[in-house]
Amino acid sequence: MKKIFKLALACLICGLLIASSQAQDSGSKIRVLIVTGGHDFEQPEFFKTFNSIEGITCKSVAHPHAHEQLKAAAAKDWDVLLLYDMHQEITEEAKADFLARINEGKGLLVMHHAIASYQAWGDYQQIIGAHYYLAKTNLNGIDKARSAYKHGVDIPIKIANTTHPVTQGMTDYVIHDETYKWFDVYDGSEVLLRSPEPESSPIVAWARTYQKSRIVYLQSGHDHLAWDNPNFKKFVTQSIKWVARKN
Ligand SMILES: [Zn+2]
Repeated sequence: MKKIFKLALACLICGLLIASSQAQDSGSKIRVLIVTGGHDFEQPEFFKTFNSIEGITCKSVAHPHAHEQLKAAAAKDWDVLLLYDMHQEITEEAKADFLARINEGKGLLVMHHAIASYQAWGDYQQIIGAHYYLAKTNLNGIDKARSAYKHGVDIPIKIANTTHPVTQGMTDYVIHDETYKWFDVYDGSEVLLRSPEPESSPIVAWARTYQKSRIVYLQSGHDHLAWDNPNFKKFVTQSIKWVARKN
């Protein structure tokens, strides 16, 4: 009996120590909520890339369930919202939740096709700092051409600001990816990446603040050919840390 009791006590202590170290481990990591839906992508390779980034834990949600995660109670479980969706429908309630999370300072990383989400919600474009046009549009009396894209381009990328925490330690590189062009980039952002490629927007990535949130937009990221580029991973990792106010 005595031996069994000692063994049980040892197991209990051991279990408590493991639970405590796991709690400390997850407590120090940045909790990223990845939102997808509305656009196809190579799912296994995508999640493999993000799950391999050190210092973060990822949870994902797809539309139509993503907006539930913007509620105050659900948002206690994440620090950074990584948007990789291309979704249009949003209720007034979900808009208010989105704005509330931005107003309280949650980090936001907007990637690739998420630039074209919520075309009819002007606040979204103000938050991310850009307007991509899925169709030819007349905006306040000004004709806007439909934005364009091209797959499979070797895009030269120039680091526009080498002192920003997001681009720290990075040098110019080439990435094989899809380009976007003919979209508006609003004033008030700090340009991080540029490209001389004629098929691409000259501005490829930027950082900004909106209310209490830090926001980064990155044009790159169509498929594994981009995700496997170490420069892509470095930029994304440093972006997540910056929007989470951890670097
Ligand atoms: Zn794409």
